[in-house]
Formats: sequence, C-alpha cells, structure tokens
Amino acid sequence: MKIRTAEIIRLSIPFTDGSSGVGLMPQQWTHLDVALLKLTTEDGVVGWGDGFAYHCAGATIAALQDMVLPHVVGAEIDDIPAFNHLLQKRLHLHGRYGITIFAISAVDTALWDIAAKQQGVSLARLLSDSPRPSVPAYASLVRYGNPEQVAAFTADVVARGYQTVKLHEIALDCIQAGVEAAGSGVRVTTDVNCNWSLDEAHRMMPEMKRLGLYWVEEPVFPPDDAATLGALQARHGVSIASGENACTLTEFRRTIPMIDFVQPSVTKVGGVSEAVAICDAAAEAGKRVMPHSPYFGPGYWATVQVTAAKPNAELFEFFWIQPEAFIDPTIPTPVDGRITVPDRPGIGFEPDPDVLAKYRVA
Ligand SMILES: [Mg+2]
Repeated sequence: MKIRTAEIIRLSIPFTDGSSGVGLMPQQWTHLDVALLKLTTEDGVVGWGDGFAYHCAGATIAALQDMVLPHVVGAEIDDIPAFNHLLQKRLHLHGRYGITIFAISAVDTALWDIAAKQQGVSLARLLSDSPRPSVPAYASLVRYGNPEQVAAFTADVVARGYQTVKLHEIALDCIQAGVEAAGSGVRVTTDVNCNWSLDEAHRMMPEMKRLGLYWVEEPVFPPDDAATLGALQARHGVSIASGENACTLTEFRRTIPMIDFVQPSVTKVGGVSEAVAICDAAAEAGKRVMPHSPYFGPGYWATVQVTAAKPNAELFEFFWIQPEAFIDPTIPTPVDGRITVPDRPGIGFEPDPDVLAKYRVA
C-alpha cells in the first residue's frame, strides 16, 4: 500500500463515572482526549488509528505531525511490522518510548485497518484462521475511594453479567468491600497504579491472598522493575499483572518470564504489530494476556480484534465510564460480560461525522 494523505482529528469528549474524578490520572479527569488519525491510500482505502492522548493529545499530535507522518505519507508499505520497526529505528533519538511510540501506535493501527480492508476481512480474520466470534470482558471500575461506592458499583456490574471485576482501589477496606459485594464465583482484581511502597506491598499482598484476588496490577513504582514484580508474586503467591505502561516487545521480554499476566495497550505499546508480537511471545512462555484497552477509539476496536485472534488473550478490559458520545456509536460493548467481535472489513471502526463535528478541538 502507498499512503497518499494523513489527517489528524483532535477530540475532547466529556464523560461521567460516579467518582470524584481524581485518583487514576495525574490530574482531574473529566474528558476523553483523542488523537484520531486517518490515513488514506492512493487507491482511496481509509485506515483509522489513535495514539494514547490523555492529558497529552497536543504532544501526541505534534509527534505525529513533526516526527512520524513525514516518514509515512508517500511511503510504500508492504510489511507493517517491518515498517513499524523502521519508524522506531529512525525516531529512536527522540526517545524510544512514551510520546514517540504513542504516535507510532496510531500509524500502525491505521495501517492494519487498511490491510484488513484490502483483504476484505476483519482484522481478527487477517490475524487468525479461527478467531473467536465473541470475547469475554471484565468491568474495569474507576477509583471511588470509599467502601460504600465500591460495593454499589461492584454489585451493579455483577448484576449486569460480568464474571470478573477490576477495582482501582488501593485501601484494604475498599478492596474488601468490592470482594464482598462481588460474592462467590466472581473474580476480583485490583489495579494499584503503582501507589504502594514496597513495604506497603509486602503488607497488602497477604491480604490480597486472603481475599482471593485474581491478580494485583502494577502494585509498586516503577512498573518496569520486572525483578521486583516477580519477587512479589513469588513470595506472596498472588498473580501480578503489568504492562500497560510498557512499550514494545523489547520491554515485555523482561516482564513476561516474571509475572502471570501481561497487559499490552495497543495505543501505547507500538500498535497492533507490537501487541500481536507480545501475545505470541507470552504464548510461547505459557503466559496469558489481559490487554489494556485504550478506551473507546480505534485502539479499542483493534484490541477487540486482537483479543479475538489470540487464544492466550483472556479478557477484554471494559472501562466503566460513561462518555457523552462514542466516536462510532456502533461500538461493540459487553452484553452479559461478552463482546461480539465486529466481522466487517478492517478493525470495524467508522466515525460518526456528527460526533466528530461536535467534539472536535481546533
Ligand atoms: Mg491498569
């Protein structure tokens, strides 16, 4: 394929989540910032991607405009993973990870969307001869910070058919409230987002064991300290999950041997190419993948497709917030805890022009 044009669309979509709005992100979080990328080939096929953009949409867009897209527009691309690596090599002087790889992730996702459309199949079918028609999802609650709210939201998602619930709670009373509200037969995890000190982690992990958590996610800082994560898992016998803040297979090669669950994020890790390579490397090591879902843009749709294609991708993460609008209102959201995988060509995403017009940021 040869890319003729690239267009970037910046969006800001308000959402509600029932929380105080602080805790998960470094700043108060009220809007979904989206750096949407549209690539069009010489013969008119359109591909969509997005790079991680929360609180950094301007930076991701600048990286796309100034660093990445000059290498993409006009390029003849036959092998997407090879082209992705070429971009990484050409741009490594800007820093291998963070904003640089977020921007590359947007391009890579759009290229895979185009490749699948050119073959007339869904991305899942392009990646696998026997993709799953639907994938199980877990409800990923935000941090509420008080046991009553944790219990109420947990009970609500269990009543909606979710069999796995992820809390983002860091205090024992809140985590315990979630486990008790979930009841028997429902798996509960918590995402600490690196908030515990190592001493706190050693105090909390036996409690997590007692409560039977399915995994503990990113318990300590820094999340790329694979040796410490591996030591916590081995010492306390509770599965650790990590990876949403790691980039490329190179980083994942360090964590895959150390922990039970790896969590590549399509919009952060280097796109579909790197996410697929990480799933395959994890499968070789006998490890399962719990992909971090990059919320509700093209990265979400691509993650659904990758999850369907890779047998060791166990659960799709469905973030429990309520955006004012979805960019594509036909977005496949979980019903009874399962997502039906779109079976139209590409990743399935097609933005609603009215949504683009309403939420566009100049
Ligand atoms: Mg997480």
